[in-house]
Amino acid sequence: MEWRADSSLASRILEDIGKELDIGQEQYLANLPHTSELIYCLTRSYYNRLDPLPANQQETLLFSLGIGLEKVLLRPHRKGEAGEHEGIYWSADWLDYTEGLGELKTSRLSAKKGPEELPATWIKQILSYLKATGHREISLAVLHVMGNYSPPFPVLQAWRGKASDIEVQANWNWMQERKRVYLDHIERKEPPKQFRFNEDWECSNCRYLIVCQAKESIERIRSEDAIG
Ligand code: SF4
Repeated sequence: MEWRADSSLASRILEDIGKELDIGQEQYLANLPHTSELIYCLTRSYYNRLDPLPANQQETLLFSLGIGLEKVLLRPHRKGEAGEHEGIYWSADWLDYTEGLGELKTSRLSAKKGPEELPATWIKQILSYLKATGHREISLAVLHVMGNYSPPFPVLQAWRGKASDIEVQANWNWMQERKRVYLDHIERKEPPKQFRFNEDWECSNCRYLIVCQAKESIERIRSEDAIG
């Protein structure tokens, strides 16, 4: 056989995946603020809601990988529940092997990482669900798509976690403060300052990176001019 690269076909597939991912956005946007838009970069959440750019290739593929796997995995055991608690909307997926709360994640993190090394954003999300539902225990299943990278082959790990009232409330206080800051910026129609309300790793694949870098440069030049 002879093969030739077809970049227009790849672009069309990506575009269609992007359209699939947009389904459900309307409901999401109606719920202001949603747990996930407070946990992740507030600047990005603001742009996604009020001044969105199309998702870039890496974001589309990473997101579709997670959603696709989670839709297929454990389909008979999945339950979804959503609600609003003290002004913050949430939606969680249950695994009904137990009566308790459960969460399923897919990740490129190495399977060598234990629960204490899980992303802080996951822990914030879990603690928020515990607050909203009144639970204090949760099951967590993680599909490490690259296993432990030697060789890169998928591995599934499961954990049971228990949180104290103090941890749950401390996280909720943090969420309420993020809500206050975020809603204030939404009301004033002014994006939260770039690189201030995010984890460093969030910027590398972000569609708004050029916008944030440009704003940062402009602000630096203005402040140098003001001093000079
Ligand atoms: S580039 Fe970084 S600071 Fe800017 S929106 Fe993206 S994640 Fe947030």
